[in-house]
Amino acid sequence: MKFEAVIGLEIHAQLNSATKLFCDCPNRPGDEPNRNTCPICLWLPGALPQLSQEALEKATLACLALNCEIQPESAFDQKVYYYPDLPKGFQLSQHHKPIARNGWVDIVGEDGGIKRIRIHHIHMEEDVAKLIHEMEGKTPISLVDFNRAGTPLIEIVSEADMRNPYEAMEYVKTLRSQLRYTGSAECSLEQGTLRVDANISLRPWGTDELNTKVEVKNMNSIRNVGDAIAYEIVRQTNCLEKGETIVLHTRLWDPERCVTLPMRGKFSGPCIPDPSVPRIVVSRDWLKEMEGRLPEMPGQKMERFLKEHGLTPDEAANMSLERDLSEFFEAAVKQGLPPRKVANWMTTHLVPALRDRNHTIGETLLTAERFARLLSMLEKDIINAQAAKEVLLQLLSSEETPEEIVEKGHLRQVSDTAELEAVIDRIIAEHPSDVEDFRRGNAKVTGFLMGLAMKASQGKANPKLLKEILTKRLNSIP
Ligand SMILES: [Zn+2]
Repeated sequence: MKFEAVIGLEIHAQLNSATKLFCDCPNRPGDEPNRNTCPICLWLPGALPQLSQEALEKATLACLALNCEIQPESAFDQKVYYYPDLPKGFQLSQHHKPIARNGWVDIVGEDGGIKRIRIHHIHMEEDVAKLIHEMEGKTPISLVDFNRAGTPLIEIVSEADMRNPYEAMEYVKTLRSQLRYTGSAECSLEQGTLRVDANISLRPWGTDELNTKVEVKNMNSIRNVGDAIAYEIVRQTNCLEKGETIVLHTRLWDPERCVTLPMRGKFSGPCIPDPSVPRIVVSRDWLKEMEGRLPEMPGQKMERFLKEHGLTPDEAANMSLERDLSEFFEAAVKQGLPPRKVANWMTTHLVPALRDRNHTIGETLLTAERFARLLSMLEKDIINAQAAKEVLLQLLSSEETPEEIVEKGHLRQVSDTAELEAVIDRIIAEHPSDVEDFRRGNAKVTGFLMGLAMKASQGKANPKLLKEILTKRLNSIP
């Protein structure tokens, strides 16, 4: 029997408000353990939570960016469960009355078509404390860090609209891009500011059955999300083919062994309306103001890039995915450079260099203005592409101008015909057997000799001119 996967994702995003959700402690979980605490977020009995206006605004912007309907009234519940990371015995979360419902995200499916993934609802909640497991001699011990306790989260619950790992990965990517545009959340899977749980079930192909699902947690990259779902689909298929039944449980993705393993469930109790946090009532005017704060979103920006800058759909998608890079792109184009050239250099050289260094563009010293000056030197044939790449890498961490780096490194392109002819003549004289090959009709030799000549010029030769001279010389040998 052929099976179809039914996949829904529950995604926690940590909001980057300055303070925690219900107190004035700094929202910086990475600080020295237990520094950012007070009676409210240590959850001492009797301390009264006070909802942060900033966290509420950031949550609202995030919901609007995901096309959700903000609810006129929302409220917090006590989600009862018992665990050392939650000593008060319940987590403040919106269960019965979430802040937003009925959203959606459009993704590009595997076939290139647009597919809409619906969002059932988004709710706000406080994060729990962090447990650190260590060994003290031979005794295992657990430490508790309350810096994270009470920090603001939103949980985005999708409908089970995804059918394969590819769609799930695209959904996370698109959603992450849209959330980052609002400036409400950093959304790093690697650093845990975005956490993805996947619910996966199988059903016979072509039916509408809803079968028992298995939840998979602990995926720390987009790739992990795809790999874990793919693994789980194969595992469940094997179970069903053997006639076993799928039971409801939670599994952890093990990125080292590339398998999912069952985990022990936590006791979880009921959700009781909380009497201490006031209900959130949203006025029309306030909602209008929030909508006005929403920036141009990636989808709109992509459409504009297609029309205004004449990019291809792929280029426009690449240039609009991250807000900082899209702004960098437009600022560089404003300096008068051809947009496609800017897009191409950003995709091929700048973005990989940032990824290697694990930096955002804002964390480097490269400005759009300096980037544009570098590319215009390339346009004017002052330097060749190889030198431009070298200068680009230096500009990321240097305050020197591109011109200064070129002069200091003697990177100017050699376009002096006599100089290049001398290089070519030497290479030809040193490789008689290759020249002989060329005469017998092996055209590949040109590329080989071209590489040698470029190397002999220390990478500085004007490649167009060099090739012209080489071709002329080879063809003139009797
Ligand atoms: Zn606090």
